Amino acid sequence: MTDGSRPTARPTRISTDIDFDRDGKQVSNLFMPWSMNDSAYKVVHIPIACIKNGPGPTMLFTAGTHGDEYEGQIGLLNLIRELEPEHIKGRVIVLPAANFPAAMAAQRLSPYDGGNLNRAFPGDPDGGPTAQISYYIANHLIPLASAYHDLHAGGRSLDYLTYCGMHLTQNEELNQKQFALVKAFGPPFSIIGKSSDDRLAQRGAHVRGIPAMGGEFGGRAAVSKVGLALVERGLRNTLAHLGILKNWTIQPPEKPTRFMQLGGRDYFVYAPADGLFQPAVELGDWVEKGQLAGRLHFVEDPMRPPLEPRFARAGLVVCKRAQGRAERGDCLAHLATDFEG
Ligand SMILES: [Zn+2]
Repeated sequence: MTDGSRPTARPTRISTDIDFDRDGKQVSNLFMPWSMNDSAYKVVHIPIACIKNGPGPTMLFTAGTHGDEYEGQIGLLNLIRELEPEHIKGRVIVLPAANFPAAMAAQRLSPYDGGNLNRAFPGDPDGGPTAQISYYIANHLIPLASAYHDLHAGGRSLDYLTYCGMHLTQNEELNQKQFALVKAFGPPFSIIGKSSDDRLAQRGAHVRGIPAMGGEFGGRAAVSKVGLALVERGLRNTLAHLGILKNWTIQPPEKPTRFMQLGGRDYFVYAPADGLFQPAVELGDWVEKGQLAGRLHFVEDPMRPPLEPRFARAGLVVCKRAQGRAERGDCLAHLATDFEG
């Protein structure tokens, strides 16, 4: 909604046999027709669950927005199997692999159209598969929600410290609801973003005045045991915070959540050339301005001295490149600093 206008209401091409108003536990699919060379009448089946018990708030969880990020997908699968209507008051809607084609292909972007679901909001019902999915989430699922959480990780190319994230909005009341959600989730730290990118999934909630959060719970296209444990606890903490999950006492983090922020380009270190990256820091290190980020080697030219990219400012290393080879322009690391409001 780049122009701030009301969300459009063009009909979606995605259907479902889930009745979101019905009490009980329904686990089925969104059905998205998509014609392909090897499957003329293909209907993509995107798993979705709706668990409802009477009136009350609705929580919407999505994972697999990027297909190669797994802690959220596993945490939500466990939640779908475990959660029964009698455990809750209200409604929980779960999309464990939102960009389902990407999740099945174990890649960040959709193999069908190259789409990045977290840069595709508010979507287009007449667009490619990724635009159609984002349109459905933005216009059919988010409007049902009292709060929204889109779970991420670093994917194949990045490794992350585990944290919850949220983006500030112009609406201070909405911001406060988001701070409360993040605190209830209970991460060791949280990054408060100031991105104005309207294509993010969380922005699909903000335009409707609905609080949203995200977070990075691991990376390397692997599954972090620490990250998954945080997700499992955090999902339930969130539901209890909203008054949806009964008989669950919110489990706080060992230390109060540290609120941090991301800044501009000086928070990032990019590869200055194609090469083999030898990191000089670990996730969780505090670095000073000018400190060595690593050495970029040239295996095709053994006597060429490595390049030495450095940090442009001080901060906490929260993200690191996960792969040895890097191309010019790849993110090698990024920092966070304490939240300044
Ligand atoms: Zn992601």
